[in-house]
Amino acid sequence: MTANLCTASWPGGSCDRPAEISDLCRAHYAQQRRGKTFAPLKGAHGADLREMVPVLIRIPADDADVIRAEAEARGGDIIEVYREAVAAFASELRKRANRQQTVDA
Ligand SMILES: [Zn+2]
Repeated sequence: MTANLCTASWPGGSCDRPAEISDLCRAHYAQQRRGKTFAPLKGAHGADLREMVPVLIRIPADDADVIRAEAEARGGDIIEVYREAVAAFASELRKRANRQQTVDA
């Protein structure tokens, strides 16, 4: 059986993922639902969306306001700002873990 490929394309490229919903892969289907034009699937730090996991969290409204304001100031994608915030904290945690391993060694 040959899987149909996602039909999303953009100047200079097209998607090579299997189509899952309405002739689109899940990520491009999500782009379409957000009213975005199709774009390559690259996220924070060039990570491939296929290597990301979805999470759903509740955060304080004050924090959400600050994130939203930052996204608006950049004229960018609010999800990218959330990814950046989580990536910065995760990076700090990895550094702490590495320092701890060095101390333990
Ligand atoms: Zn796609």
